[in-house]
Amino acid sequence: MDKINKTEEEWKKELSPDEYRILRQKGTEIPFSGEYDKTFESGMYKCAACGAELFDSTHKYDSGCGWPAFDEAIPGTVEFHEDNTLGMSRVEITCAKCGGHLGHVFPDGPKNTTGKRFCVNSRSLKFKKS
Ligand code: FE
Repeated sequence: MDKINKTEEEWKKELSPDEYRILRQKGTEIPFSGEYDKTFESGMYKCAACGAELFDSTHKYDSGCGWPAFDEAIPGTVEFHEDNTLGMSRVEITCAKCGGHLGHVFPDGPKNTTGKRFCVNSRSLKFKKS
């Protein structure tokens, strides 16, 4: 995947203040506040910053955690990073194309599929209905 490299000034111009705070400054939206928390239509979730296709709706499930949750990403589209901030040991996920912060992945997902919970900010995503 070709990487996108933009300056923070460029991102600031393109993104809303909320999107910038989450995607570029690794912020987190308030739980149950996001646009896609309760979206279960079929379609594709793309990166809100660069448009890369990240999650297929067939992998979305209702985790009850307050953020959109998926049991898998489209292979190769997200990158994983060790995150030891805030006194927790977590795995951060970013868009492989633009480096935008998406959320974290946890090992408490559906046991009948991957066992993973990709916990993603709605504001990091743009949903395209199919
Ligand atoms: Fe992106």
